[in-house]
Amino acid sequence: MSADVVDALLRGVKDFTKRHVHALAIDEAHRIPPEVLSGFAELGLFGLTLPPEFGGAGLTALDATRVITTIAQADRSVATTIGLHLGLGTRGLVAWGTPAQHERWLPSLASGEVIAAFATTEPGAGSDLSALQCLAVANGAGQFTVNGNKIYVTNGGLASLLTITAATPGLGGAARGTSLFLVDPKTKGVLRQPEEHKLGLRGSSTTAFVFDETVLPPDALLGEPGQGTAYLHHVLSWGRLLLSAGCVGTATAALEATLLHVHARKQFHRALIKQEVVQQQLARAAAIKYAMSALVAHAAASEDDHAALARLTTSAKVFCSDGAVELADLAIQLHGGAGYIEDTGVAVMLRDARVTRIFEGANDVLLTHAGLMELTEPQPGKPDALDGAVEQRRQKILTESPGVRALNRKVEQHALGKAVVWRDAARAALAQARTPLEAAAAALVRDEAIALAARPALDAPAVTTLTASLLEGVFP
Ligand SMILES: Cc1cc2nc3c(=O)[nH]c(=O)nc-3n(C[C@H](O)[C@H](O)[C@H](O)COP(=O)(O)OP(=O)(O)OC[C@H]3O[C@@H](n4cnc5c(N)ncnc54)[C@H](O)[C@@H]3O)c2cc1C
Repeated sequence: MSADVVDALLRGVKDFTKRHVHALAIDEAHRIPPEVLSGFAELGLFGLTLPPEFGGAGLTALDATRVITTIAQADRSVATTIGLHLGLGTRGLVAWGTPAQHERWLPSLASGEVIAAFATTEPGAGSDLSALQCLAVANGAGQFTVNGNKIYVTNGGLASLLTITAATPGLGGAARGTSLFLVDPKTKGVLRQPEEHKLGLRGSSTTAFVFDETVLPPDALLGEPGQGTAYLHHVLSWGRLLLSAGCVGTATAALEATLLHVHARKQFHRALIKQEVVQQQLARAAAIKYAMSALVAHAAASEDDHAALARLTTSAKVFCSDGAVELADLAIQLHGGAGYIEDTGVAVMLRDARVTRIFEGANDVLLTHAGLMELTEPQPGKPDALDGAVEQRRQKILTESPGVRALNRKVEQHALGKAVVWRDAARAALAQARTPLEAAAAALVRDEAIALAARPALDAPAVTTLTASLLEGVFP
C-alpha cells in the first residue's frame, strides 16, 4: 500500500474515532457499541495485515502499528480488540495455515465478519507455558479430542475463531510437544464462559473457555504437530508489537491531555506549566513517549527477521507498557483531584494501561528473559557510553559467576534485562532522531539508560535477610 493510501486510511480512522469512539461511554457500558466495530470493519481494519488475495490490506507491520496507535489514542479497548485480532488472533493462521484453511477463514476474518481470539493461558499455566494441561489427543480417525480450560481470552465473547494451544505429547515426534489448533467455538464441547469484570479495558471482551471432550476435525491442526511452542513465539512477537503500539497511543493521549491541563490550570498565581518541577516531569514524559514510538517503529521494521522481531518486541513490550502506565499516572498526578474523577478522562487511561504490564508476558518475566538473552547472545554494539554501560553490567555478572552459575543469577539477569530494554529504546530513539527536539528527547533517554545500567544492585545481605524472613513468614 502506498504512503498516500496509508495516510488517507489514518485520516479516516482518526475522523471515525473522533465522531464515534467515546472511551468513557465504552468503559461504563463494558462493551464496544456494535456499530463502532462494524464501522471499523467497513474501514477495513480487521483485514489490515491479512493478505490482499483474501480481502486484506496487506499492510506492513509498521503501518499497522500506526493504525493501532491512532485508535488507542481514542480508546484502548477498541485498539485491544482489533490489535488482538490482527496479532495473536490471525498471525498463526497467516503464517502456517494451509491453502484450504486460508480459503475457509481469511476472507471472513478480513471483512470483520469473523473476529479472532487466541487462547493459551490456563488456570495453572500463566507465565509458565510449559505447564499447559489442556490436552489434545489424536484419535484413530485423524481427529483430535481436546479437554482442558483456557482463561482470560481477549475477544472471547466476540470470537468466531479461536486459535488454541494444547499439549500433544508424542505428536510430531516431540515427547512433550504442544500444537496449535483452529477452533470454531460453536463446536460441540466448547463451553464459552461469562464475561470477566476487570479493572480496566472494560470494553474489551475477556472470557474463559472449557473444552469438554471436544472433537476437532483433522484440518483444525495449524502447521506441524508438536511445533506449537516455536509458533507461539512468533505469534507473541506480533501480539507484543501491536500491544506496544497501543501503549504509544495511550502515552500520546495522556501527554496531550496533561499539556492542555497544565497550561490552563493556575496555582500559586501562575499556570502549572510554569513550575520547574512540572516542566522537568513533562520533558521526561515527552522523551519517553518519543522513545516508545521510535522503538515500536524499529521493532516493526524487523518483521521479516523473526529472531530480531522477537528480541525487539520483548523490549518494546516492556518499555512501552511501563511508559504508558507512567505517563497515564503522571496525567492523573498533574490533573490533581480532577485526575481522580472519571469524567476528566485520564483515570480510565491508567486503568486501561495497567494490564499491559501483565498480559502477553509479565514484564518481570520478560526482563529476566531479556537479560538471559543478552548474557548468552550479546547484541553487537558501538564503542559508546550506552553500549559500554550495558556490556560492563554483563561482564560483571560473568566475572562474578562464570559459566553456568551466571545463568542462575535471576536478579542480576532481571537488572541486566532492564538495562537492555532501555538501551534498545535509547538506540531506536537516537537512530530515528532527525530534528534538534528529537535529538534532545533521545539524549535524555540515553542518559537515563546509561544511569540505569550503572545503578548498583540492592545491598545483597539485607535482601537475603529480608527474603529469609518473608519465606518463613516471620516478617510483620
Ligand atoms: C485482561 C486480560 C486479557 C488477557 N488476554 C489473554 C489472551 O487473549 N490469551 C491468553 O492466552 N492469555 C491472555 N491473558 C493472560 C495473560 O497473558 C496472563 O495473565 C499473563 O501471562 C500472566 O500469567 P498469570 O496471570 O497466570 O500470572 P502468574 O504467572 O501467576 O504471575 C503473576 C506475577 O508473578 C510474577 N512472576 C511470575 N513468574 C515470575 C518469574 N519467573 N520471575 C519474576 N516474576 C515472576 C509477575 O509479576 C507476574 O505478573 C490475559 C490476561 C488479562 C488480565
